[in-house]
Amino acid sequence: MSPNSVNGSLSDTQYTPSIELLFLGTGTSSSIPHLDCLTAPPNRMPCLTCLSTLTSEGKKNIRRNTSAALRILGKDGKRTTVVIDVGKNFQAAAVEWFPKYGLREIDAVIITHAHADAMNGLDDLRGWTLGGAIQTHIDVYVSQSTFGEVQRSFPYLVSKEFASGGGDVPDFEWHIIEDKVPFEIKDTGVRITPFLVHHGRLFTTNPPPAFAPTPFATQPTTPNLSGRSSPARPLSDICSSATPKIHPYLCFGFLIQDTIVYISDVSLIPDDTWALLESTKKPMPVLVLDCLRLRAHTSHMGVREAVATVRRLNPRRTYMTGFSHDISHDEYVTIGKAAGGDSPRDTTSMSVTERRGPVWIRPSHDGLRVFVSSDDSVKDETYD
Ligand SMILES: [Zn+2]
Ligand SMILES: [Zn+2]
Repeated sequence: MSPNSVNGSLSDTQYTPSIELLFLGTGTSSSIPHLDCLTAPPNRMPCLTCLSTLTSEGKKNIRRNTSAALRILGKDGKRTTVVIDVGKNFQAAAVEWFPKYGLREIDAVIITHAHADAMNGLDDLRGWTLGGAIQTHIDVYVSQSTFGEVQRSFPYLVSKEFASGGGDVPDFEWHIIEDKVPFEIKDTGVRITPFLVHHGRLFTTNPPPAFAPTPFATQPTTPNLSGRSSPARPLSDICSSATPKIHPYLCFGFLIQDTIVYISDVSLIPDDTWALLESTKKPMPVLVLDCLRLRAHTSHMGVREAVATVRRLNPRRTYMTGFSHDISHDEYVTIGKAAGGDSPRDTTSMSVTERRGPVWIRPSHDGLRVFVSSDDSVKDETYD
């Protein structure tokens, strides 16, 4: 199956958006708690974040892979449901939060990048489409690169000819989206603009090797999207002959309805993406931003980088996401208040780049709901 290209044409109809954002997951790829921490021997320093998940007070420290569901008021007055990322534990998140908040049909799934914590739950979407249980198919929006990774990793999700067993696979309609080219979810008036950010490094050859999907392993050629064919080579040949080069690994963030900026996996925002972000409305009502831990990581922002990003964009509210177990939810609340500067006295103690008045920063948590009204005011169910 060939994916559809999505162009930038949008409806001219003006309407007032209203958005509900539900965090389905707010943890890093490993999720929290770690089994290692729950089963640690008594002579080891206990991990208070992970152990707290066993108590009623620590439920906000249970964090699945970053993911969100948005219900967006479209031009026809109906709500369009968009899910961002379906990672390794999307199924568990959906079981917990979909019934609780009345979610069912999914109008679109958009994928940030091809890591396991963003796309390995695609198979779980069979629960929506098998036998038309909830809907006949799901529209999935991905970059060309991510589409290639899905095709390589899970060929049956792209072409049913690769399905085995009973052939019970989900039904998708694939759409290719491009950097800084807005697209509309069907004809709903819901507009999303993807933009590229760096998410660590990619050690690869240039051009990338033509890995063959499993069903093609014994075939002499590997078809690709363009219809051309390239010879399939043994992996050992590729590894021995190619010269590895380091590139930034690119990941999508999303601008949703000019109202929410969502960046769940980022180590650096390049200048051309900053140009887009700084051309958006001021102030942006909501920023969702990666913040793995106190210190920066090769693939993720730490507190310093995240706060600098918040101060540059200066949104109305920022919800950090993508946490490791280094710091608990309650500690992040304290950090958010201190880093954001809740009072003039706090502001004067900040560094030069931070002396622009207080900003509002809080940690998201699984199950948190945020509401943006038509006048761009923002409320949520935890901090209001
Ligand atoms: Zn832990
Ligand atoms: Zn990732």
